[in-house]
Amino acid sequence: MLQLETDIKAAIRDIPDFPIPGILFKDVTPVFKDPELCTRILEAFAIHYQTVEIDAIVGIESRGFLFGLALATRMRKPFVLIRKAGKLPAKTIKLNYALEYGEATIEIHDDAIEKGWKVLVHDDLLATGGTAHASARLCEQVGAEVLGFSFLVDLSFLNGKAVLSKGFPSAKIIGLATY
Ligand code: AMP
Repeated sequence: MLQLETDIKAAIRDIPDFPIPGILFKDVTPVFKDPELCTRILEAFAIHYQTVEIDAIVGIESRGFLFGLALATRMRKPFVLIRKAGKLPAKTIKLNYALEYGEATIEIHDDAIEKGWKVLVHDDLLATGGTAHASARLCEQVGAEVLGFSFLVDLSFLNGKAVLSKGFPSAKIIGLATY
């Protein structure tokens, strides 16, 4: 295991039964208290995507905004937000998608992405892949092409990567800490 992965895992805190019984929640907030570790994480993402020509980074609410904006700023690229329904103030495009129990709606401002932009979708954690997959489809609906996905954590036993590779075969997918 790379030293960076070891250090990320040492910082992440496991919270059992949050937000509901049976879920082992990966609390990434201690990572943000370590500026040296955050710098190394941003470097790792930037190096991984330096050969991919992207126009913007799209962050998924809410923890995807944290490294998402920092990475976009570091790469001198625009940052675009995908939010849960009802939070974005201007005109939006919405997408409904199925969750394990029930469904969810996400939104993006309809002028957030220029037609033909190549984007990278970022979130803190990849679990089943449903959220990232729906977010990438929403990007496509507003005219973007999705070239990659980045996550701090990949819960690989939930096979999210397979869901994303099936939906977006040419996208580069990275998770820095894999469980
Ligand atoms: P999924 O759509 O199943 O890939 O779930 C990914 C989204 O749910 C991300 O925005 C994560 O922040 C959150 N999430 C899912 N499972 C966990 C977990 N075990 N610990 C922390 N966050 C999680």
